[in-house]
Amino acid sequence: MWAFRSVLLLRSAAGRAMSQGPARRQRPPKDPLRHLRTREKRGAAWEPGGPNTVYLQVVAAGGRDVGAALYVFSEYNRYLFNCGEGVQRLMQEHKLKVARLDNIFLTRMHWCNVGGLCGMILTLKETGLPKCVLSGPPQLEKYLEAIKTFSGPLKGIDLAVRPHSAPEYKDETMTVFQIPIYSEQTRGERQPSQSPERLSPGQSSDSGSTENEQHLADGVGQRKRGRDPSLVVAFVCKLHVKKGNFLVLKAKELGLPVGTAAIAPIIAAVKDGRSVTYEGREILPEEICTPPDPGLAFVVVECPDEGFIRPVCENATFKRYQGNAEAPVALVVHMAPERVLADSRYQQWMERFGPAAQHLVLNESCSSVHNLRSHKIQTQLSLIHPDIFPPLATPCRQVVPHTVPQPSLAPRLGFSPRSGVCLFQEEVPASRVPTVRGECLLKYQLRPRREWQRDAVINCNPEEFIAEALELPNFQESVQEYRKAVRDGPTPAENGSQYPEIVFLGTGSAIPMKIRNVSATLVNISPDRSLLLDCGEGTFGQLCRHYGDEVDRVLGTLAAVFVSHLHADHHTGLLNILLQRERALASLGRPCHPLPVVAPTQLRAWLQQYHHQCQRILHHVSLIPAKCLQKGAEVPSPEVERLIGSLLEACDLGEFQTCLVRHCKHAFGCALVHTSGWKLVYSGDTMPCEALVQMGKDATLLIHEATLEDGLEEEAVEKTHSTTSQAIGVGVRMNAGFTMLTHFSQRYAKVPLFSPGFNDKVGIAFDHMKVCFGDSATVSKLIAPLQALFAGDIEEMEGRREKRGVRLARAALLSGEVGGPEDGAPQQKRALPEQPQSPQSKKVRAQ
Ligand SMILES: [Zn+2]
Ligand SMILES: [Zn+2]
Repeated sequence: MWAFRSVLLLRSAAGRAMSQGPARRQRPPKDPLRHLRTREKRGAAWEPGGPNTVYLQVVAAGGRDVGAALYVFSEYNRYLFNCGEGVQRLMQEHKLKVARLDNIFLTRMHWCNVGGLCGMILTLKETGLPKCVLSGPPQLEKYLEAIKTFSGPLKGIDLAVRPHSAPEYKDETMTVFQIPIYSEQTRGERQPSQSPERLSPGQSSDSGSTENEQHLADGVGQRKRGRDPSLVVAFVCKLHVKKGNFLVLKAKELGLPVGTAAIAPIIAAVKDGRSVTYEGREILPEEICTPPDPGLAFVVVECPDEGFIRPVCENATFKRYQGNAEAPVALVVHMAPERVLADSRYQQWMERFGPAAQHLVLNESCSSVHNLRSHKIQTQLSLIHPDIFPPLATPCRQVVPHTVPQPSLAPRLGFSPRSGVCLFQEEVPASRVPTVRGECLLKYQLRPRREWQRDAVINCNPEEFIAEALELPNFQESVQEYRKAVRDGPTPAENGSQYPEIVFLGTGSAIPMKIRNVSATLVNISPDRSLLLDCGEGTFGQLCRHYGDEVDRVLGTLAAVFVSHLHADHHTGLLNILLQRERALASLGRPCHPLPVVAPTQLRAWLQQYHHQCQRILHHVSLIPAKCLQKGAEVPSPEVERLIGSLLEACDLGEFQTCLVRHCKHAFGCALVHTSGWKLVYSGDTMPCEALVQMGKDATLLIHEATLEDGLEEEAVEKTHSTTSQAIGVGVRMNAGFTMLTHFSQRYAKVPLFSPGFNDKVGIAFDHMKVCFGDSATVSKLIAPLQALFAGDIEEMEGRREKRGVRLARAALLSGEVGGPEDGAPQQKRALPEQPQSPQSKKVRAQ
């Protein structure tokens, strides 16, 4: 009987998919782990007979700010291919559920593919997912070890690595084969920088000798554990054959015993393609069953440079899927730069998949906006003040030399029946293999019908955002009043106070979310010198969106990074900054010196582990222990002394001081004093801190965290953060000229609640907000137009606050004491109620 019922269920699911499209079927489940319980109930012997609905969806189309990542959906499983910085944020923004992501495939041990894994794992843990398997390069295991140096033991989620040498993986949807591909270039050729690896004076250097080990040219050789930049892992994913659907009405017509136990063996037989004899009559499978759907395959391959072209093209496993394939390849996803795609060998290899195969390209020539909400809010804020909220850079399509239209090669147009929208397929002249360029949320459906689907593709329309804002009650009036109020003063450019210029790149806490990324503040000391204060996941992406094509120049001005403490929301963007800076300097034709990083010494352990096991990184960094910059601290070595001296000189700073603050162990705040007299103080994460008040006396500008709203003082103590009024109070005690509040809990997605303490010396930071000292009068007056723009959100938050007040009062009446449940950040709400909060998850949220 079970077979019959499951057929009906599958059929009705397929019917829904046909009529409404899969996107609408993704309603948020009440219980995010329902699927796991369903799977358990089915038991190991359950054979689903292949999925009805399968599609691939582009999460990140390969641009420099987002990297390349792919989401694969079936009614049974969800998968992610690659997880660079910001991927979790995009999935949150675009409602791609992570709760079912128990398989992540990684094509290469490079930060661009794994940089978002720490944030993703912490998020998966929050959802209560018991287990997640990472497939790909064997170094992933060491990478997870390295993450633990700052995240703690990651209790509560079982993380496993399935290296490429493991047998193929099979689940309800597909079988996945991992194909190791080794570059034919040696390490010496691939790594131009042969300077001695360094971290800070006195640290032992690593010889990194394992890379030179020989391997077999056909790519089946095994190497010793250790980092290996010459390995990529490709994936061939074979969908299970979908058995035909049993046609109940036809069966009834033929007099078969539908609805009784006797039908089960009949269904099983015809679905397997066997005929049955019933009451002396032979019944062929095609009479009562639709034909089976073949076991299609799709391929995901990264080919990062020319050294991988020959090994990819000559790989024996791929050959089995070309020509008379054992399973027809419906789609090949190429994560490869233009120069690889243009290579004639690579083009021929593409061609060998046959004319029916589609080719999706994810690389830097993508021009798709991904972080739509970021663009929307910035467009609306720029209506208030276009200099303080400058419009974000939209990625512009790079010129792709070999796809310049030629008269003889008119672009072919593909037609998507679902959306009725034409797809532009670019011709690659030499081989005429049409490719489709990745766009955020573009889908290719493999089942029920093979087709491109553009219904979810992002359309960034600034005019729409503007119109929406202008319709808000009081918004236009308050902007006009604001402009009148700030009109009289000279602009910063006019009175020569442009620098230092502060660009807030991330102003949210804990986990990157669609509106606010995590901590990072760029201080442009002069046009050619800058400092980065903290560097959470996605900081480089934020820089790209802020500066567009200027980003290389800005990276070139970077004189140092200050890492306040080792919570993930403050430092996991550092490696990308280091790697991208190397690339930027090379493109500017400038030598790459190690970047001074002022940080707790504990950062060293993470950098070293990552360097030794995953990717060379140490030669980019000169670590200056933050404790050495405390007042009266002894500098341990002349080399550190020299580093500090040259940093001060490069930035025209008279002083770069740190102090311990009240947050976690080894958490620092800092104060920068410029030779021209200004003083900038940054709190990092902290409760109100006397040492910071002392260090920051008479600061020109204080940047202080204000994680929580007033009224949540107890929670603030528990999580060692400040409330809005506490942060403002620190500024008053410090006699700061102006206080900018930042690091808001993600529960205040758009705007924090304004407290009565707000005055003309206080401003709140937004991602991509750009201010200088001369803006202080302007910034404090922003509150009225902000209140008009975010009136709806503020009302909602105030409603929550009121409810909380009532709850607290009731709890106090009942128990005689104050204290009780709190409203949760969005992230917390996703946690299962029955999952006890582990100390670790508290720690994550307390960041
Ligand atoms: Zn934090
Ligand atoms: Zn923290």
